[in-house]
Amino acid sequence: MNVLTLQNVTKSYNYNEPPAVNNLSFSCQSGEVVALIGGSGSGKTTLLRIIAGLEAPDCGEVILNNNILNSSTVFVAPEKRNCGLVFQEYALFPNKTVRQNIIFGKGATDDPSWVNELIDITGITGLEQRFPHELSGGQQQRVALVRALATRPLLLLLDEPLSHLDPELKESVRTELLKLFSKSKTTVVFVSHDIEDATAMADRMVVIHKGEAEQIGTSDEIYRNPINKNVARLFGKTNFIPIELIPNAPYSFTEKESNEKVVPVRPHQLQVINDSTNNLPKFTGKVKSVLNHGAYKEVEFKTTQFSLTLHLPKNLSVQADSKFTIGYNPEL
Ligand code: ADP
Ligand code: MG
Repeated sequence: MNVLTLQNVTKSYNYNEPPAVNNLSFSCQSGEVVALIGGSGSGKTTLLRIIAGLEAPDCGEVILNNNILNSSTVFVAPEKRNCGLVFQEYALFPNKTVRQNIIFGKGATDDPSWVNELIDITGITGLEQRFPHELSGGQQQRVALVRALATRPLLLLLDEPLSHLDPELKESVRTELLKLFSKSKTTVVFVSHDIEDATAMADRMVVIHKGEAEQIGTSDEIYRNPINKNVARLFGKTNFIPIELIPNAPYSFTEKESNEKVVPVRPHQLQVINDSTNNLPKFTGKVKSVLNHGAYKEVEFKTTQFSLTLHLPKNLSVQADSKFTIGYNPEL
């Protein structure tokens, strides 16, 4: 069942600028974790604020659990939406204690055992009497999360929940958040600009570019079968090879500007071939440059027609001007 549905939502801040959110539609199933992923300024925060009711769309509909929250005739106030929201800046009340911050949400005090369980799961036990300035950034985030979940919202909205964290901390916080999501059985929409976070945490993602939903799907679907170059590059370096050279490629797309049909090929899908009977699509050429990445070597490779980026095993001996044949293996 769809918990959240957005239909053709558009929002402009200034009439002389392109809309921040442009005719955007997507939906979330009950219990699903959905990531809104896109670069800075693509409209992610605006979209989250529209869902929360902090911003009114110019047109379009927002429906939560079969209740219309926004339409041409309806606007439901934020506090009546049953959404928990955690901003990028945690927005705790500075003059209230942790406990007071948490039970601020309407309905939170109705179920003290749930609040205590949340405090326990997030590991902020013992901090209840402190004020926000007496907490670390990570602890403040946990308090904001507990506050958002204390009212058992239908929908939890998180803006860049992992963007402040060191890489070492990220992994444990991702695991912690996923535990919290499944324990609270809530549907989650979170904003991220980091494809790794979105891949690790989300069941599905909505790729947003210039306020539009470019592609919606699981991380695997989008990784394998991106709809355009911009989406393909979200997952890192990609080669775009004309379809005529790999007619049987499993995935391809037509570029809007050039009307050219290309195959998205990841650098690691191109490997050196020694066996000439191998029936993979092949390209012969010469190494232009080699960059050592530790786990692999990134090689710029030039055929007579174009340049390709390859990721080759670190123990393979390659130098500039080495000549060899590579094969494209979509299974890799
Ligand atoms: P993201 O969260 O993806 O970085 P935002 O939703 O914050 O993107 O911003 C989308 C666009 O809307 C940007 O061009 C931004 O400058 C503009 N914008 C965001 N908030 C406001 C505002 N309150 N007033 C005017 N323009 C805004
Ligand atoms: Mg933002």
